Amino acid sequence: MNNERHLVVVSGPSGCGKDTVVKCLRKQHPEIEVSVSATSRLPREGEKEGVDYYYMTRECFEEKCKSGEILEYTDYLGNYYGTPKSEVDKRISQEITVILVIEVEGATNIKRMYPDCTTIFVRPPSYEELAERLCKRGTEDETSIRRRLARAVEEMEYAVDYDYIIINDVKENCAQEMFEIIESRLK
Ligand code: 5GP
Repeated sequence: MNNERHLVVVSGPSGCGKDTVVKCLRKQHPEIEVSVSATSRLPREGEKEGVDYYYMTRECFEEKCKSGEILEYTDYLGNYYGTPKSEVDKRISQEITVILVIEVEGATNIKRMYPDCTTIFVRPPSYEELAERLCKRGTEDETSIRRRLARAVEEMEYAVDYDYIIINDVKENCAQEMFEIIESRLK
């Protein structure tokens, strides 16, 4: 068994519900772990340090990149986001399945580094639904919503490069589909 198969990368445009789907999957399968990323963006209301992200200044993030602590990173709409090395290597060497919920450029880099990892793209049912979810979520101001929607259109073009594309219509169904993919890759 190749340990890279324990690495699962999930992407999808902002507002497609990928984090909710992953949370839903973990309720049923808590043995599957999720990597916590580092970011220079400020915490949103209700987000917790070390649970949602490791929050840090841009300077601190850049230091961590220089010292090789960050496996991949990107500048997404003006903020850094990156996967700490410590979130991945130990887990996969112990055959613990770990999910990275990251954007498309990061996913491309991870696939290059770990060719046998599993990549899953979560699509919203439609663009209109995506726009509605982003507005309803209430976490972003109007400018951020507009930028995230524009970025969503670009991100959708990457879907064909993923091993699997799933549609998040009903979150429980989507989580089950995701679990079945992960399980099938580990057989
Ligand atoms: P948000 O601000 O909505 O939490 O995240 C913005 C985007 O950054 C999302 O698409 C999210 O998946 C992505 N992201 C979160 N962590 C990472 C990471 O470690 N690396 C990369 N490349 N993208 C990330």
